[in-house]
Amino acid sequence: MRLRAPPRDAQSLHVTGVVQGVGFRPFIYRLARAHALCGWVLNAETGVEIHVEGDAGALRHFTLAIESEAPAAARIASLEARPAKVEGFEEFEIRESIRAERPTVRVSPDLPVCRECLEEMTDLADRRFGYPYINCTNCGPRYTIVLGLPYDRPKTTMRDWPMCNACRAEYDDPADRRFHAQPVACAECGPAFVLRAGARCVRAGAAIAETIALLRGGSIVAIKGLGGYHLACDARRPDSVQKLRERKYRKERPFALMVRDAAAARQLVELSPAAEKLLASMERPIVIAPAKIDLGGIAPDNHDYGVMLPYTPLQHALFAGGSPDVMVMTSANRSSEPIAYQDADALEQLSGIADALLVGEREIARRVDDSVTRVGPFGPIVLRRARGYAPGVVASLPAKRAILALGADLKNAITLVVDGQAFVSQHIGDLVHYAAFEAFKATVRDLCAMYEVPIDGLLVVHDAHPEYASTGFALSLGAERLAVQHHRAHVASVLAEREEFDTRVIGVAFDGTGYGDDGSIWGGEFFLGSVREGFRRVMALRAAALPGGDAAATFPVQAAAGFLADLDGLSDLAAPPFDFPDRYFKAQRLARAGVRTFKTTSVGRLFDTVAALCGFTRPITFEAQAAMWLEHLAETSAPVSAYDFPMRESVLDYRPLLAAIVEDRLRGRSVAEIAYAFHAALAGAVVEACSAFGRLPIVASGGVFQNRLLLELLAARLGTRLWLNAKVPANDGGVSLGQAAIAALVR
Ligand code: ZN
Ligand code: ZN
Ligand code: FE
Repeated sequence: MRLRAPPRDAQSLHVTGVVQGVGFRPFIYRLARAHALCGWVLNAETGVEIHVEGDAGALRHFTLAIESEAPAAARIASLEARPAKVEGFEEFEIRESIRAERPTVRVSPDLPVCRECLEEMTDLADRRFGYPYINCTNCGPRYTIVLGLPYDRPKTTMRDWPMCNACRAEYDDPADRRFHAQPVACAECGPAFVLRAGARCVRAGAAIAETIALLRGGSIVAIKGLGGYHLACDARRPDSVQKLRERKYRKERPFALMVRDAAAARQLVELSPAAEKLLASMERPIVIAPAKIDLGGIAPDNHDYGVMLPYTPLQHALFAGGSPDVMVMTSANRSSEPIAYQDADALEQLSGIADALLVGEREIARRVDDSVTRVGPFGPIVLRRARGYAPGVVASLPAKRAILALGADLKNAITLVVDGQAFVSQHIGDLVHYAAFEAFKATVRDLCAMYEVPIDGLLVVHDAHPEYASTGFALSLGAERLAVQHHRAHVASVLAEREEFDTRVIGVAFDGTGYGDDGSIWGGEFFLGSVREGFRRVMALRAAALPGGDAAATFPVQAAAGFLADLDGLSDLAAPPFDFPDRYFKAQRLARAGVRTFKTTSVGRLFDTVAALCGFTRPITFEAQAAMWLEHLAETSAPVSAYDFPMRESVLDYRPLLAAIVEDRLRGRSVAEIAYAFHAALAGAVVEACSAFGRLPIVASGGVFQNRLLLELLAARLGTRLWLNAKVPANDGGVSLGQAAIAALVR
């Protein structure tokens, strides 16, 4: 009997998505060998190309396994398989990367250290025992070390660290977990950490041991992380926390916490199964959850803590070595400046704040803060989108050309649309600050360079606000431009996430401030329409006077002076229980005289007014503080019925509501109940107002919709008819995505 060679088939596969820098090629290599297939795999600029040949059944199993067994950090967007010509390969190999078209392959976000690397780091016998920069193809830095695409070592900040022979052997071995792991290194050849305390300088293991001793002793240590420096201290020591607040000029804004592990997190905050899953997800974000114990000074007037798990090998090493089990881990910067990420800057900026600095020798390519999330009524929502998420694709847009959307000036993030893929940058910050504006410009250059889009060929989208720094920057670019109204962009951001461009919706945009069509300050708007047809404003909050304009955002009583101006027979607010300070009366005089007074429909300022009436009469020290204070106050109340908040002739009239609150305060009703009844009134008003337009989906966006109680009340009434942001923040961090979506459909 003659043996016949089994019949051979061949297949070409093209895989797109996050498939580079996540161990994808070694995975394909091992998978092909396991199925006795021959051929090759390579990184192309549009994804990963595979050619396989062998038994037809094996080819089928191989193709199925690509999706079901892909490395944890890979995100497959598409997998195309087509028959190919059999070329008679005799083995499977990994070929050199090719460069042909524009790079639209995605850079992976940074990844948390994997279990296998952690095991090696704690194994005395392993050659990377205790090495705090350990990584492999399944874990480690990506976006924060990439200098260009395609992702290869010479285009990362590891280019200056030549591999030793042992690392090189792993890097070259397709069967190894570190095959083509670009940041691969060991204590022999790679970067180390150096502790700088005054004139002293300690390296490597001793640096980590001394950092732990300093933290235990109550010191503040600046620690280099993935995308910037953190300021760390023992969260259980109110003296250290207080010292940090004083040195950082950060009076009341909550500090993020890093805990040893999930068990420590469970002791600190109430974690639903969904919240616990989010906490341990690949993105390793800060998760906001209700506090179970009170650590003095971490989050004044706030019942929540923001908690995260360690994600770098160094952070694990600190906890394993005996660091306090709960540490403050806050972005290292002087108040309101962007996070410090370059060593020279950190040494200069932080020397007055930190007692010592743990400086890592691996350079950071770009600053990326920790992300902030929580579990909303329909699942996880992102409140600050940065590490772990950026620069991931958030949506596909039907764009005919490359679009750069510059966002708003507060909580800025930008969106670049290339070949219909919307890449949303990390959170950049408030552009009124010089350093943040510099970071904004750097991020524009950075994203455009990475995806090789020439700026003059772009459609540049910006906010309609003529005085925004981002608007001025758009004008300076000399490219084709489009201005998009702020609140329409908010609404479009939700629809862009869902890729719903033709669906007609009622769009509700509530926030602190945005430039309106009539030049007044909007922030309580209802729209009707779709991304394609545009959004017509159909209702709004009754306009109030706002003495001082946007500057009033710092002083709740100043907003109150405007919102209470039209109330008849108002009692003396200088007297108890109100005790309004002089600023209120000064603002009232301004409003009456119409001096430096603007019109506003801002729900954010309505929150400030109600907070002032409930006792928040001091200036705020961080954005939306009074509104958050009011929300937490309301959450301490049992449910009570809503205040009357009527809609009259397309205008939501807050006067009966405010009059009732003043009366309730004078009668001695608890402020918690008042705060709750206000939230209930606002939720009720949204439901009522929208009912006039039938059963269309209701899209809610804008910073006010980060209010948990408000969302819960709305979700309870509207169910899945309520569409919210999830992938980008409902605050101004989501504006650039909405701008990009609107631009994609009109041009
Ligand atoms: Zn690893
Ligand atoms: Zn090495
Ligand atoms: Fe906004």
